[in-house]
Amino acid sequence: MCVPASAADRIFLNGRIVTMDPNFTIVSALAVEGARVLATGDAAAMLALADTDSVVEDLDGQMMLPGLIDSHLHPDQASVSEFDHPIPAMLTVTDVMDYVRSRAQVLPEGEWIWVRTVLTPRLRERRYPTRAELDQAAPRHPVIFAPYIYYPKASLNSLALERLGIDREFESETPADIERDPTTGEPTGLVRNHTRYVDDPGEVDRTNDSERVEAVRNLMGIYNSVGLTTVSDRKATPISIKVYEELAAQDALTARLSLMHLLDTSPGRDVEEIVADILALGQLREQINHPMLDLIGVKTFIDGGITSGTAYMLEPWGESDRFAILDPLYRGNLVLSGDRLERLIRASANAGLQFTGHVVGDAAITELVRAYGAVIRETPIRHLRPSLTHANFIPEQVIGQMAEWGIVADIQPAWLYLDSNNLLDQWDENRLRHFQPLKSLFDAGVLVAGGSDHWHRLDSHSATNPFNPFLGMWITLKRVPRYVDRAVNEDQVLTREQALRLYTTNGAYLLFREEQVGSLEPGKYADMIVVDRDILESNLDDIRDTRVLRTYVNGELVYDAGSEQ
Ligand SMILES: [Zn+2]
Repeated sequence: MCVPASAADRIFLNGRIVTMDPNFTIVSALAVEGARVLATGDAAAMLALADTDSVVEDLDGQMMLPGLIDSHLHPDQASVSEFDHPIPAMLTVTDVMDYVRSRAQVLPEGEWIWVRTVLTPRLRERRYPTRAELDQAAPRHPVIFAPYIYYPKASLNSLALERLGIDREFESETPADIERDPTTGEPTGLVRNHTRYVDDPGEVDRTNDSERVEAVRNLMGIYNSVGLTTVSDRKATPISIKVYEELAAQDALTARLSLMHLLDTSPGRDVEEIVADILALGQLREQINHPMLDLIGVKTFIDGGITSGTAYMLEPWGESDRFAILDPLYRGNLVLSGDRLERLIRASANAGLQFTGHVVGDAAITELVRAYGAVIRETPIRHLRPSLTHANFIPEQVIGQMAEWGIVADIQPAWLYLDSNNLLDQWDENRLRHFQPLKSLFDAGVLVAGGSDHWHRLDSHSATNPFNPFLGMWITLKRVPRYVDRAVNEDQVLTREQALRLYTTNGAYLLFREEQVGSLEPGKYADMIVVDRDILESNLDDIRDTRVLRTYVNGELVYDAGSEQ
């Protein structure tokens, strides 16, 4: 054994320490020096590294893991989402009505009540609240229920319709925009393309600069409390970067943060303008130089989503009232493709930036992988870890191409839990064959990282989207979705080791941090967590409720459940 020259500052003994090294080694003791892991092994070997100042901590049999990694979230947006008032979890239409009622009690009569980010397909009833229900909850306030600005429909109450002049005689841009009672012709309250008729400001952020900094600092603490020590903002903007840089300058980032910068690829923009943006981001990357904060790449949107019925699919979506799909041949939205897409991938490679595209549907994934393949023939990009974001429906032949070209994926396991029941209703079991084919990806040697896409509310289990990594791990081991009594593609369940890889070593690789974090090995940062159960031995269903007892970043305690009680 080679004995390090320096002494340990802190030694952990009597643990079940899952190192996540390539051999999945489990040890009982670990030594930290400064911000880094000094050594791992047994008690005798670690105590040999002690000097008189070393702090020795008895783990008392508890499990220690490397700090967990979330490959995809939106900290700036999420951090201020409850700034005005706490927003409850809304699982049913009744919950939505209760929330509207509570807003009506505090807002002056006549003021608009907006209900956002409640994704209709995730409500128990999987329908919009009706005009009558919203009237009942808030008769004297105009109410609009609009999951996001570009969602297919919004639901309005009577006062909102009256304010907008939407009545029996109202002439809409297209007749289908305003749903009407077939016998009376009276608007039902459901409005398609609502931004044609309502000035929808989107989510409004009422915070000032210092409040934003404080909000993100607070959120990083919440991330630490569920075991996250490295995270990625997959849609950073100049505004959020300013906040993150401020926190880094104050030494107040308690989770490592890797940024993917959003590209503005609006159809009206010339591709040369976007290429110039990419070059400028390549330079910005050089300027952000902090061990806790870096800019690693660019993100684009290629298609829509599964909860809005806009993911770009190989087969038609099929008519749907919930998704407001009237055209039987509709396959979803493709917003970036072909030569334009290839140009942007090439420009990112030239700027030394990772490229990722938001791709949910199988047709969008096929198109982005095709574009990577076309670029790879002339420009090497494997070292930049070309990525698919979301990658929900991956056709089999594409998995082979991903393996061949080194394409990695950032996947949201919680969607398997939350969205399968709705997709099973819209389609069938057969069509869900390729929904998050995690086992096939692992078997093919494709690197997949686990992420949440957290962007609204702060509760780790009920936020949109839930960011509790143990919920994410658990569903990959089980694949039994909410409100469904059987597994979706049981042959795609992962092993416990693989589930852990999603949130440790694989996340580290996606974010170019595999030399720093993801496993507890000598020389890596001492980012680690202690949890309240043995997730390798416990009942499968207990894993989702795992609680983090302590979280360390750079060898320092940043969260202690004991001190919170
Ligand atoms: Zn996202």
